[in-house]
Amino acid sequence: MAAAVPRQLPAVEKDSGFYWRAGEMGMLLIQRCACGRYQHPPLPRCADCGGDALAPAPVSGRARVATFTVNHQPWRPGLAVPYVFAVVELEEQAELYAMTNIVDCAPEAVSIGLSVEVQFERHEDVWLPMFRPRGTD
Ligand SMILES: [Zn+2]
Repeated sequence: MAAAVPRQLPAVEKDSGFYWRAGEMGMLLIQRCACGRYQHPPLPRCADCGGDALAPAPVSGRARVATFTVNHQPWRPGLAVPYVFAVVELEEQAELYAMTNIVDCAPEAVSIGLSVEVQFERHEDVWLPMFRPRGTD
């Protein structure tokens, strides 16, 4: 069973649940292969070496904004707009991306390359990894 993980919705499934729940422990977990490569979203096998010795590993939670959009459409009732949907590149590895929201700052303050760090937003049993600007003061 190698169903693709939906990228925009937190589908809390067997293979990806750790990503959405690790916030309970205050950490960001990313799937890592025994060969050292991180990959996200999680896959049944390593995209590099093909191995299946994969396990969630803690990462720093630090990243840079790779690209982003400012959304003005309230897709769900109660969703505050505008908000920033972004792809961030985690510092552990080049091209290791996570889709997220940038929070705790005005949309116009977000730029490509901005240094950000993870924080978690709990919704029932899901801890959404969000990112906020870091060390800007
Ligand atoms: Zn590998």
